[in-house]
Amino acid sequence: MSKVVGIDLGTTFSAIAELDDLGNPEVLSDPESGNRITRSAVYFGKDKVIVGEKARDASITSPKKVVFKVKREMENEVIYSLSSGEFKEDDGKIKGYTPSQISSLILSKLKDYTSSVKKAVITVPALFAERARSATLEAAKLSKLDIELINEPTAAVLHYSNLPGISLNGRVLIFDLGGGTFDITIASVKGKKVDVITSVGDKELGGEDFDKEILDLLNKKYKKLKGKSIDVNDRSLFDVAEKIKKLLSTKEKVSEIIEGPKGPAKIDISRKEFESSIDTYLEKIKMLMEEALERAELKASNINQTLLVGGSTRIPIVTEIIKKIMKKAPIKGVNVDEAVACGAAIYAGIQNKDKLNSAQKKAVSKVELNDVCNFYMGTLIIVRDPEKDRYVEVNDVVIPRDTKLPCSITKNYQVLVDDQKKIDCSVTQSEGEERDVEFINIIANEPLELRKGAKQGDPFKVTYSYDLNGSMHCIFEEVKSKKKQELNLKPGTSKDFKELRESLDFDIE
Ligand code: AMP
Repeated sequence: MSKVVGIDLGTTFSAIAELDDLGNPEVLSDPESGNRITRSAVYFGKDKVIVGEKARDASITSPKKVVFKVKREMENEVIYSLSSGEFKEDDGKIKGYTPSQISSLILSKLKDYTSSVKKAVITVPALFAERARSATLEAAKLSKLDIELINEPTAAVLHYSNLPGISLNGRVLIFDLGGGTFDITIASVKGKKVDVITSVGDKELGGEDFDKEILDLLNKKYKKLKGKSIDVNDRSLFDVAEKIKKLLSTKEKVSEIIEGPKGPAKIDISRKEFESSIDTYLEKIKMLMEEALERAELKASNINQTLLVGGSTRIPIVTEIIKKIMKKAPIKGVNVDEAVACGAAIYAGIQNKDKLNSAQKKAVSKVELNDVCNFYMGTLIIVRDPEKDRYVEVNDVVIPRDTKLPCSITKNYQVLVDDQKKIDCSVTQSEGEERDVEFINIIANEPLELRKGAKQGDPFKVTYSYDLNGSMHCIFEEVKSKKKQELNLKPGTSKDFKELRESLDFDIE
């Protein structure tokens, strides 16, 4: 029988989980290494690909052939070039791999931790752009997985609410600080009904930034002792920095022998030194927590519980900050690396009840999820600017941020001039409520030919429908002629799918 699984496709680490016979989520280990979380690193060999910790090791000798943090590129039209060892804008000439192809290799590796996986639920950040969601769907298709997407904080809530002894009720704040990203979501939980209220975050804030600060401290101290700098681009020193950071989560001080150009030196780093080195990141974290509360129009006292997600929440100062702002300690004792994958496995079970036994069905029953749209989705229109006394193009919001999903919203516009031949139908996405076209992303754009003899003021309507999966369907319609342009923001890049799949003919280790 084919299985359903949940997958956390993370920036630095990924994990896969399934429901055990009693309906409890269980993280699957890599059968070879025994690791429960897999480093999201991909090494491209001659005719094989290595995914995970070994790929990271290979980067010491072949740095250009190893891809890290592909998740950050999912929203971009880029290609990873093995000859230059970086992502480059896709101009159609560069040889290499798309972010969706690289992610598909990570998915294929995870899928092989068990047998007969056909269906999966993959988690994505609440603030993942439309293009990044499409690229994730494409990656799944490339690895022959039939998938649904769920937002990471929602998956975390599902996991926490399924744990024995934890009862989530009222408003909860999900604090997710991983290796590369930081997200805060506020949700309202009533029994097994989860309503997301808002999400805010920073795509470039995480444990790896803290590793860099430790490396910087090591460098300064080495230079002071020996008079010469260490090579801060040396990957093995990054590993040492990460190790020191992790030890400082339980110890007040760590001593390490650092090899440098002037021989070894014993260097001490204290927790206090580490904390002050990451001060600007901590301030950003505080600011984003306040912003999330403001957006949700809530005070800290209105939040019943804080749920932790991501490895970097093990840093003591991080939980202290949470305690200070929320005036209450977060829930402890949950494996923060696995919460998202486990929640995804629960959701996969809910969505595929026909594949569950009766105990599993009972365990995952009655969960209801309501997510929100995390961006402003709009369209470009032309309006008369009275100040400039001319026509200008502006962005007009169709679906406001934090609108509950699923939703369908129609806005009415008009044909601009007599005998207008066509209308440019564009779908835009922005983090703020922007009118200025400079600050928005155009995520789809197609023309619609109008009927002959269209008149100024003829009605034209735009309908955006957004499902819980995060997929949007947009209809642009000239009302009188019923001529339509439909834009479906589902998987697919401009590349040929068959070609993408054929160029992935590798053995995966
Ligand atoms: P995630 O992306 O959620 O898997 O989180 C990975 C990040 O968590 C990496 O940057 C790790 O270095 C960091 N991390 C894991 N364990 C600890 C720990 N005990 N103390 C500090 N950071 C940690």
